[in-house]
Amino acid sequence: MLTGKCSWFGGPNDTGVAPDEGLAFIDAYSDAPDLFLAQQPPGTTGLARRLNPAKKYIACRWDYDETPKDVLLTMRVLVYAPRTRRLLIARPADWGPHEDTGRIADISPGLMDALGIETDDEVQVMLPGEFAQRSLRERQEPVPVGGAMIAMSSGHGKLIRGASGVIDEVDEARRVVEEVAMQLRALGTTVVTFHDDVSTTQSENLDRIVDWHNSQTRDLDVSVHFNAYEPTNNPMGVECLYVSQDALAAEVSDAISGAGYLKDRGAKYRDDLAFLNGTEAPSILIETCFVDSTADASLYGNYFTQICAAIAATLVDEAPGVA
Ligand SMILES: [Zn+2]
Repeated sequence: MLTGKCSWFGGPNDTGVAPDEGLAFIDAYSDAPDLFLAQQPPGTTGLARRLNPAKKYIACRWDYDETPKDVLLTMRVLVYAPRTRRLLIARPADWGPHEDTGRIADISPGLMDALGIETDDEVQVMLPGEFAQRSLRERQEPVPVGGAMIAMSSGHGKLIRGASGVIDEVDEARRVVEEVAMQLRALGTTVVTFHDDVSTTQSENLDRIVDWHNSQTRDLDVSVHFNAYEPTNNPMGVECLYVSQDALAAEVSDAISGAGYLKDRGAKYRDDLAFLNGTEAPSILIETCFVDSTADASLYGNYFTQICAAIAATLVDEAPGVA
């Protein structure tokens, strides 16, 4: 983890950057179109001035041995601002700032706004694997309660099982729910969790889960499942189902994909699911990955903590009810 001061960079208004200046590991607009403005700003030719200042991006003095350029292109990092206690996900966009500045990171104006900080405020930058250690340490200290209240449950139940393949849906959904809840609590979010240990039929199970959610005081209902299709070695990926929360579902799917290197199948509208239809608060249903894909199961196993951290960070950042 890096800790130190930050400043901002990039975009049409960054006159500290020459009009023709490029970026350290992004060679073309098409390498990361999400980070850039659709048009090159007038009077400029370089990618640094074409960065979209509203996006959440960051430059650090990355160690290319630890995180090679091609990894940086798809990697997400967590950026925490101790002063405002906000945690956000950002994408590496450049190498810098120069050591002489005494700063450890340059971030986008949009990220600076979203973190609620200013130039020379302190940030902590965490690579995906480092997040869990930080939450463990913070768990030792009292954390002020704030942000959204979230109710989370695992899909299916102890006696009415879900999908099974290389991994088991019910077992893994329970692990994800508890790990995400632990990380959310470390960030000061109020979370309640539920796993159905008693239902013996599918309708009883669905009713029990929906009833539990509707009996909670919360801003958001989250259900965790795993997908299944047919046994394969191919990567299948993550998706997030919704009825009204299309933006949040897309963010969650994108975050899980970025943290776990899982294929991003994105947000999917589903009007036929008891959980999404029956829960009265805004809701999403996460299909973490496919239990019958060996590629997915191995990525999920390797990046379990990072995936859970990404879900927690996204919910802290984007859930309804967040001030
Ligand atoms: Zn399921």
